[in-house]
Amino acid sequence: MHKAGVLLAFETRERYEEQCASLGVFERFGMVPAHLHGNAVQTREPALNSRTCHGLYFPDDRQVEPDSLTQGLLKRCQELGVQIHEHTPVRRFLRRGDTVTGVLTDKGEITGDTLLLAAGVWTGPMTRELGVPLPIRPGKGYSVDYSPAPLQLRTSLTLEDARVAVTPLNGFLRLAGTMEFGGLEENINLRRVAAIKKAAADSFTDWGNPPGEAKPWAGLRPMTPDGLLLIGRLHPLPNVYVASGHGMLGLTLAPATAEIITEAITRQRLPAVAEPVSPLRFTRR
Ligand SMILES: Cc1cc2nc3c(=O)[nH]c(=O)nc-3n(C[C@H](O)[C@H](O)[C@H](O)COP(=O)(O)OP(=O)(O)OC[C@H]3O[C@@H](n4cnc5c(N)ncnc54)[C@H](O)[C@@H]3O)c2cc1C
Repeated sequence: MHKAGVLLAFETRERYEEQCASLGVFERFGMVPAHLHGNAVQTREPALNSRTCHGLYFPDDRQVEPDSLTQGLLKRCQELGVQIHEHTPVRRFLRRGDTVTGVLTDKGEITGDTLLLAAGVWTGPMTRELGVPLPIRPGKGYSVDYSPAPLQLRTSLTLEDARVAVTPLNGFLRLAGTMEFGGLEENINLRRVAAIKKAAADSFTDWGNPPGEAKPWAGLRPMTPDGLLLIGRLHPLPNVYVASGHGMLGLTLAPATAEIITEAITRQRLPAVAEPVSPLRFTRR
C-alpha cells in the first residue's frame, strides 16, 4: 500500500465548486485537502499544463495496485486453508425449499451451509434466479495502460472535468474512465477509449503520441439505483447473503465490506452502521 496522496485537477471553476460542496463529508473523517489555484497546481504536479486552473490535493490518500493486491490476497487465503476454484463458473443453485444447499459448477457440485453471492454485476442475474431479484446494473468503464509510463507523475490524479483517472503503477501508467450503461457484454467502444486518451493529451504537457500503449480493457461496475452497496442477507432466503453493488469503489470498500459481511454471517446480524446498505431496501414487500 502506497501513501502518495491524490490530486483532483479541475479546468473549470464550476466543477471545482461542485466538488467543494461535498468536502464536509471527507473533512469529518480528517481528510482535509489543500486548495490549489493557478500556478500552485503545476507546482504540485509539473506534468499538468495550464488548462488545469484548480486543484484539491489530499495528502493522506493511499493507493494499491490491483494485481499485486489480488495475488497477495490469494496467497494469504491459501495459507489459511481456503479452497479456490478458478475458471469454475456456477451454473445453477441446489435448493431444499428456501435453503440453498450448494451450487452446480462445470466441475461438479459444491455444497455448503451458507452461500455468499459476491459476483459483481453478475450478482443481479443470480438473485433473479433465486427468486429475489436485486437491481444491479452494469456501468462499463475502460482503461488504457502505457508501458513504459510516458509521464512520471508525483501522485495519482483525476482529470475531473473529463472524469478520467490517471494512475502511476509499477513501471506503467493507467488511464481509466467513462460510465457506459448497457448490457453485460464487455466489448470495447473505441469512441469512449479515444475520449479518455484525448483527456490526457489535452491536460499534460508533452503527451504527444506515447509508445507502449496496451490494448484497451473494459470492466463492468456493479451499479445500484441509489448508488449504495448491497451487503447482507437476501431475505427471505435463510442462508443466502450478498456483497455487491460497489460501483466505482469496489477496491476502496472491500475491507469494510469484509467486516460487515463476516459479522452478518457469523453473528446473524448486520451492524447498525450497515443498515442503509441492507438488501432489504429492495426486497421488502
Ligand atoms: C475502469 C475501472 C476503474 C476502476 N477504478 C477503481 C478504483 O480506482 N478504485 C476502486 O475502489 N474501484 C474501482 N473500480 C471499481 C471496481 O473495479 C469494482 O467496484 C469491483 O471490481 C467490484 O468488485 P466485485 O468483487 O463485487 O465484482 P467483480 O470484480 O466484477 O468480481 C466478480 C467476480 O465474480 C465472478 N463470477 C461472475 N459470475 C460467476 C459465476 N456464474 N460463477 C463463478 N464466478 C462468477 C467473475 O468472474 C468475477 O471474478 C473501477 C472499475 C472500472 C471498470
